[in-house]
Amino acid sequence: MSISQLARSISESPTLKLNETAALLRDKGEPVIHLGGGEPKSKTPIDAIISCSSLLNTGEVKYTPADGIPALKKAVIHYTEEHYDKRVAPENVIVSSGAKQAIMVALYAILDPKDEVVFPAPYWVSYPEMVKLAGGVPVPVCARDGTFFPSIGDITEVLSPYTKAIILNSPNNPSGVMYSKEFIAEVVALCESRNIYLIMDDTYNRLIFDGRTPVNCYAFTEKDVETSKLIVINCVSKMYAMTGFRIGWAIAPRELIRAMTNIQSQQTSGPAAPSQWAAVGALNGVQASIEALRLTLQNNRNVMVERLSAIDGVSIVKPDGTFYCFPDFSAYEKNSQKLSQFLLEKVRVVTVPGKEFGMEGHLRLSFCGTIKEIREGIERIQWALDSNSANELYLGNRKLVRDWV
Ligand code: PLP
Repeated sequence: MSISQLARSISESPTLKLNETAALLRDKGEPVIHLGGGEPKSKTPIDAIISCSSLLNTGEVKYTPADGIPALKKAVIHYTEEHYDKRVAPENVIVSSGAKQAIMVALYAILDPKDEVVFPAPYWVSYPEMVKLAGGVPVPVCARDGTFFPSIGDITEVLSPYTKAIILNSPNNPSGVMYSKEFIAEVVALCESRNIYLIMDDTYNRLIFDGRTPVNCYAFTEKDVETSKLIVINCVSKMYAMTGFRIGWAIAPRELIRAMTNIQSQQTSGPAAPSQWAAVGALNGVQASIEALRLTLQNNRNVMVERLSAIDGVSIVKPDGTFYCFPDFSAYEKNSQKLSQFLLEKVRVVTVPGKEFGMEGHLRLSFCGTIKEIREGIERIQWALDSNSANELYLGNRKLVRDWV
């Protein structure tokens, strides 16, 4: 079959593939524990449901403007004012089908063939493929000191005349860490001095722990939205647990938003009307669900970190936010794909290999499930890896005997 070079260069989303594998195994009655997931368990806020249903009840579900319905743009403007202390105009906003599409159309709008996009490792799995789809070249940057925190020197070193943008995601998927205010300020200044864009992927910045507060990138520039190089991405997906609605947005200079809108209008047209009205309901409604989710995740994080720390040889950096942590298992196995496959085969625990995020030896483990899943999942991992644990383990009423370490 004739498949384009571009299509051949793009890999399948490993996280979506893992969801399929887990579902297939569960259908066969296997006692799978899914620590690979990327969405909170909580329900859609009631205000979102009511707002969405009101539209559905009219029976008038039509095309929407390519850059989003005015009511949602208004809610996004209000959100930006409240959380970024920034007044923006409707022309500075595009609503897309998820943060993913907002980032994708931004990349289409700014990249010429072979332009480079720099992002720190570990990184969200989709960045390299999205950059490639837009004709660009992904340039991941590893911290020279081996941590999750590249320095401004590490970033500066990989810049070239072809660099068009830097992407920062804080708190970070997969590590859960937040970059410091100082680092983000340095990156804002670097982008301004080099005249390159900074895409701030703030997808998780309301889900942060231990009294930390989100870092507002606009605080580090004297420029206004029109002249700044900032493209700020948000979505309802994670903070309101509304992943299935597919609504995200970008704030950027109006000329760029116009270009992004043209692209989106030819690509998908405006996002689905019921989803946009659901997002209006969520943004304008009672906000208690975010705090409830945040507290649940913080508690889950504590349990996961405590359990992982009890495994000999596993080192873990405590996540500041998100619902992921990214422990280092290299004392047991350096090849993360092999390790992930091993854990699925032997103890039916789904994890995501660190290699997919640009860092070998690690696994991404999600703590967005239940405490029971977290406890049992880590217990199974510990049993599979640590030869000091008991020789037998029960998965339901199935007895496993460890005959490999
Ligand atoms: N950015 C990051 C860092 C993510 O982890 C995700 C989803 O997992 C997205 C963006 C995409 O969000 P959405 O579901 O709104 O497209």
